Parts: sequence; C-alpha cells; structure tokens
Amino acid sequence: MIDELLERTDSSSVALTVAGTDLSLTYEQLGNHVDALASRLREFGLGKGDRIATALPNGLDTVLAFLAAASVATAAPLNLAYKEEEFRFYLEDTGARALIVPPGGAPEARSAASESTLILEIECNGSRATLTPVKQPASQADSNAASEYNQDVALMLHTSGTTSRPKRVPLSQPNLMASVRNIAAWYQLGKEDVSLCVMPLFHVHGLMASTLSTFLTGGTVVVIPRFNALSFWSTVREHKASWYSAVPTIHQMLLARAKQGARPSGAEHLRFIRSCSAALAPRMMAEMEERFGAPVLEAYGMTEASHQMASNPLPPSERKAGSVGVGGSVQITILDPQGNHVERESAGEISIKGPNVFGGYEGNPEANASSFSNGWFRTGDQGYLDQDGYVVLTGRIKELINRGGEKISPREIDEVLLTHAAVAEAVCFGLPDRVYGEEVAAAVVLSGPTAEADLIKHCKLALSDFKCPKKVFIVDTIPRTATGKIQRRHVASLFSDQ
Ligand code: AMP
Repeated sequence: MIDELLERTDSSSVALTVAGTDLSLTYEQLGNHVDALASRLREFGLGKGDRIATALPNGLDTVLAFLAAASVATAAPLNLAYKEEEFRFYLEDTGARALIVPPGGAPEARSAASESTLILEIECNGSRATLTPVKQPASQADSNAASEYNQDVALMLHTSGTTSRPKRVPLSQPNLMASVRNIAAWYQLGKEDVSLCVMPLFHVHGLMASTLSTFLTGGTVVVIPRFNALSFWSTVREHKASWYSAVPTIHQMLLARAKQGARPSGAEHLRFIRSCSAALAPRMMAEMEERFGAPVLEAYGMTEASHQMASNPLPPSERKAGSVGVGGSVQITILDPQGNHVERESAGEISIKGPNVFGGYEGNPEANASSFSNGWFRTGDQGYLDQDGYVVLTGRIKELINRGGEKISPREIDEVLLTHAAVAEAVCFGLPDRVYGEEVAAAVVLSGPTAEADLIKHCKLALSDFKCPKKVFIVDTIPRTATGKIQRRHVASLFSDQ
C-alpha cells in the first residue's frame, strides 16, 4: 500500500532533495532504492511484524529507511537526540530486531542495542543506497519464523502519557495512507508543489504532512537536515518552496529575524504556511501573514491519528485565528466525562473517529479502556466546536508538557530527579515560554545538600537535553491545592511569575 506513494508516470521528476547539498532523488531512483533496501532487509531475515528501529538525522537515508522498513516490516523511528538509557528503553519496549544507523553515527543507540539486535549502517550517495551490517545478532533471524507482533503495523511510535512510561502507538498502512490522502486533498497538493520539510522525520508531523503527502501527489520534498533561521529563506528561494509546515517555535524564530516591512525574498513562492503540534497565538498568525505574505493555516495533529485531525482551510474558505480548523474527513465530536456528546460551543474532550485513527495502544488495556468511548478516540485535549464546526482548543486533560511541539511526560522527569540522593520530592511542570510555548521546570523538596545546577546536571545524565528542566525551584514543601492535592497545573501557576 505504501508502494502506492512512489508509483509515478513521470518518474524523472524530483521526489526528494536535501537542502544545502547536491543530494537528490527522482521518483524512479527513490522507488529503486526503496526496493533494493527492502530486499536487503528481507535477506537479513526481517519480515512482517518485525520492528526495525532507526536513529538517523533528517536526510535521504531517513526517508529511504522508513519506506523500506514500513513496506517489509514495521518502522520504528527514534529521536537521534536520545541518551543511551532512553534508546535502551525504546529499543526494548518496541522489541526492535534491527537498528539502522548512519555510518559511524548514533553511538548511544548502538551501545543501547541488545546482543540480539542486528545493527545496519545505511548510506545513500544519490545513485546508490546500501545497508551494511556492523553487528550481527548472536543468533541469526529465521526468516520463516512468524513474528510475535501484529503483522499489520507499518509504523510504531510512542506517545508520552500520564505515567512515566510512554505508550506504544501502532499505525497500520491503511491508517497512514488515509492520513496522507486527507492531508494531500485538504491542501490541494499537486505535482507543482515543493514542500520544505523542517520537522524531524521521527515524528508524524514531518513524515506524514511534509513528506508522504507530497510523494502521494508527485511534488518535491526538500529536507532540511537541521532548522536554521539564518539560511531558511535562501532555501525557500533556491527551491521555490510552495509551502512548509512547522511548529510555532520555528515560526517564532523566523518572525524574530524578519525585518520590519520587508517580505523575505523567496516568500513570494509560498502558497500557504501550515502550523501544527502546538498552539499558535492569533497575534503571531497575523504577524506571519503580514510579514511573509502567505495564508497561515493552523492545524491540529496527533500521533494516534497518524497526524492531522483538523485544519483551517485554504482561501477563499475562512481561516479562523485561535481555532485549529475543521476535521475534513476526520470525524470530530466533543464528549463529556460520561461519553455523552455535548452541544456546539460547549467544552468537553475532543474525540475523533476515522480510518486514520489507530486501533489502540499496544499491550496497554488500561490506556485503551480509558481512551475509547463507543468507538470514539478521546484525545485528552479539551475544547469545543463553534457554530461553524471549527475546533477551538481550550486546555489539556492529559498531563504533558508541550515544549515546541515535543511532548514530554512530567512523570518521567520526576522519576529521574527522585533518583538523586538529595531529593525527597519532585514535581515537574511546564512554564510558559516565549519561544517554546512551554519549558520544563521542576519544584523540588530536598533531603540533603545540593544546588539547582547539580540537579539539572543529574537530569542530563539520563534524559535528552530537550526534556531536562531549565529551572528547578527548591522549596520547603510542594504547594498543594485548597483540597490538599498536588496538581501540576496549580504548581505551575504559582511559579509562572518568578
Ligand atoms: P503528538 O502526538 O506529538 O503529535 O501530540 C499531539 C498533541 O499535540 C495533541 O493532542 C495536542 O495536545 C497538541 N497539539 C497538536 N496540534 C496543536 C495545536 N494546533 N494547538 C495546540 N495543541 C496542539
């Protein structure tokens, strides 16, 4: 099914190119490389149900590895920024039989892999793509042995939850294809479109919205290895990008650099700008439209929905600032805690249904029992539908910190802080931040001598930098609500002004 993405009549058009390099692939090359890599994976005994983890930076290799792994088995992309312990957790939790890394790169992922994991290095110079084993598992995989895992999963991702253990989100090929079709149709993507992919490809935002929806419609994806506000507009100009999708943090960084009055050169190519994965302030949306001269469409996405759940429409339809738009082919309703549908303009839990929505968390019956109501998936986000059916988000029921679109479980950080010998109690929360929307902070009660810097250093040993608290408040007691409960939102509100 995923193969459909690469079927092209004019196979000589450019499918994928890497900004700042001369690396580029036509649809024909992309298809051939994916076939070659898929055969190679089969030679190593990998097949349906097997999980193939990747720890790769944005580039040709990542896209090739994803497409090959998802067509042969299950792709499980991981964030290259993880620390060894985090990689160990994800590799074990996913049951990864193979790990794909860059030549000589991803040392932490390699060290975290178990004896039974096959490690492969991927390399693509444009004309050729190879997978070379650097560590064979203690016992060879038996290609005839059926995997213990669900054969229909194309992509396995994790989402942070209320507990410190992230939940496994299995997405099938039909889920992914439904999502990609929705996105492509919603933005009327076509052959002429050039999508600038600034988002990481280990997350559905970069993968589904920026990349696969473009492949489906025969356009070109320009991958940016690492976002850089200084070179962004020259990349837009050079590749005549017609749209890009990003988190508000990236939009904010671009706005901060934009000169008053002058539209950045290259912006005239943009048909629209998409914002997703965290709240876009209406003022920022207006400023972007004024400075960059393109309609800004805020969308609402989630891993469990294979990304897009709602979006504001292209002109001439109305885009509403402060709303994440309408569901399109995704059904959206608002449920009360008992699972009743509430009226328009009344707030409740945003709940969704559609072929893009996953079937349930893997190996987690408790999470599934609380996340589904009569076939509706409860997103954990609070909001309402206005009279025109546009979704307005008003808050979050689930407990997570949204740092620039990156979701962080506060419990995971609490637990790391609690392993420090001088910490008696720890509560992490999100503090409002101008650039990231929310930044990680902690309130800590000590049982021995230590200082804030030492506690942050302690976190950095176990957690990727983006998860580490930037501020630790040392307090005598953790502030409680009037009813004596510790509530992260309450703690956060007390420290937001300090
Ligand atoms: P993820 O699974 O990482 O894509 O995160 C999904 C969550 O991101 C949603 O459940 C929301 O809490 C949040 N989110 C996504 N899009 C938006 C948006 N436009 N505004 C506010 N929050 C958003």
